[in-house]
Amino acid sequence: MSSSVRTCPVPGCHASLGTTRNGNPYLMCPRHYAKLDNAARLKIWRAFGSWQRLERKYLSTLPTLRPPALLEARALAIRTYIDVRDDCVRKASEGEIEQLQVAL
Ligand SMILES: [Zn+2]
Repeated sequence: MSSSVRTCPVPGCHASLGTTRNGNPYLMCPRHYAKLDNAARLKIWRAFGSWQRLERKYLSTLPTLRPPALLEARALAIRTYIDVRDDCVRKASEGEIEQLQVAL
């Protein structure tokens, strides 16, 4: 296991993230994850899962034997995951941004 402490990706939230029962890292702290609807939760876990599958394939292939299609698929999966995650971060922090604007 990596020793680096992962924190919630929502800006201003510094909650550290643990690991789920099946060994996956939590993608957001419980408070922000609770704000996502089921469709968003399904989308972020699906994007994370396909990235992880490609990552395992990538790591189990010798660098000189990695086919370009694998490198492209992995890069695309990472981009997709980041897009989906950014979308979820927006959804999870919606109320907070409004509160901030009201305060300003
Ligand atoms: Zn959070």
